[in-house]
Amino acid sequence: MAVTFPANFSLTNLQRRLEPGIVYVCGSCRLPIGDHNDWSSDHVGDNVILMKAVSQFVKSGKLTTSSDPGDAGSQYQPLSCNSCHNVLGKFYSSTPANLNYKLNLYNIDKNVIDRYKF
Ligand SMILES: [Zn+2]
Repeated sequence: MAVTFPANFSLTNLQRRLEPGIVYVCGSCRLPIGDHNDWSSDHVGDNVILMKAVSQFVKSGKLTTSSDPGDAGSQYQPLSCNSCHNVLGKFYSSTPANLNYKLNLYNIDKNVIDRYKF
């Protein structure tokens, strides 16, 4: 027999953890790039954070086919800061199968950004 749920329900405070908010900013000029709502995952091996969305201050460049050994054959748009032109990362629109986790996400280089908790 199927279990039915009421149309409205609420979580108790015990189940809900209070996570600090995080805002990611350009490491050079401090404009906000995104926040924890846009975050998808951290990828330690590649030293990138994967974001589902970024702020208006992130500019996408021309679609490029990579010849770097790390992501050869993939297609991406380079991402840079709209204000200071700091190179921030890549947005992949096609990848080899082993890099599918990066697909359609903003891959932001952790070395060029800072993060603040609020
Ligand atoms: Zn900047």
